[in-house]
Amino acid sequence: MKYCRFLLNNRAHYGRVEDRSGELWIVAPHDAPEEDLRFRVENGDSSSAAFTPMPLSQAQLLAPVTPSKIICVGRNYSEHAAELGNEVPKEPLLFFKPPSSVLSPGGVIVLPKLSEKVDYEGELALVIGKRTHKLPIDGDWQGAIRGCTLANDVSARDLQKRDVHFTRAKGFDSFCPVGPIVSDELDLSAPQNIQARLNGELRQNGSTKDFIFSIPFVLSWISAVMTLEPGDLILTGTPAGVGQLKPGDRVEVSMPGLGVLSNSVVAE
Ligand code: MG
Repeated sequence: MKYCRFLLNNRAHYGRVEDRSGELWIVAPHDAPEEDLRFRVENGDSSSAAFTPMPLSQAQLLAPVTPSKIICVGRNYSEHAAELGNEVPKEPLLFFKPPSSVLSPGGVIVLPKLSEKVDYEGELALVIGKRTHKLPIDGDWQGAIRGCTLANDVSARDLQKRDVHFTRAKGFDSFCPVGPIVSDELDLSAPQNIQARLNGELRQNGSTKDFIFSIPFVLSWISAVMTLEPGDLILTGTPAGVGQLKPGDRVEVSMPGLGVLSNSVVAE
């Protein structure tokens, strides 16, 4: 199952996505996920809408999730911890990004005047599918997630170093591009290759086999603290190769099976 969320005639719709000869297409309406109550109230039953298949690349995409919270794992690849001069952590470092930071695929990352150094961080993101609390480390972690997508954990590095907490550094509007699709077809127990390109040049080329903390460990660790709700997002950390964004840049995060999350950059 693969799906996206997109605008059609100025209304948000969910669409089922399929691979047709190597290109992702929106082929049919897809039911709104249970967390998207606003969608249901405003738009009713999406399955009744008239629909013509279209390439995903031609759709006006929206972020495919409407999370109640976004939980991030910092320093989950040892080479990235080293490039920022940090020790490899003994326990997962967690922080939040606000839902107001979510940005659509194709949306514009705004570099705030308050920061002089904003970095991209390409990441695999998990989408929670079922209310989950205190998941045991050997519990059914695959049953807790609906699928996965891509995210860019955009970070104001100077504010991150200056502030005790990451709230400002990670929290600006547009600092969490997400998408373009949610998929449950990736084997998350096998290594997956994640890449980020800046203006077409490969900058990050990591593998989830290098996670310091595995997906089941991270889900167990987070849900020991807070109840995870359907649609919540977990950003699993970024590999080495992060770098600064400048106005006019284009940053692309990709993983086989998840498409390409592409965003442009402007100054505030
Ligand atoms: Mg990150």
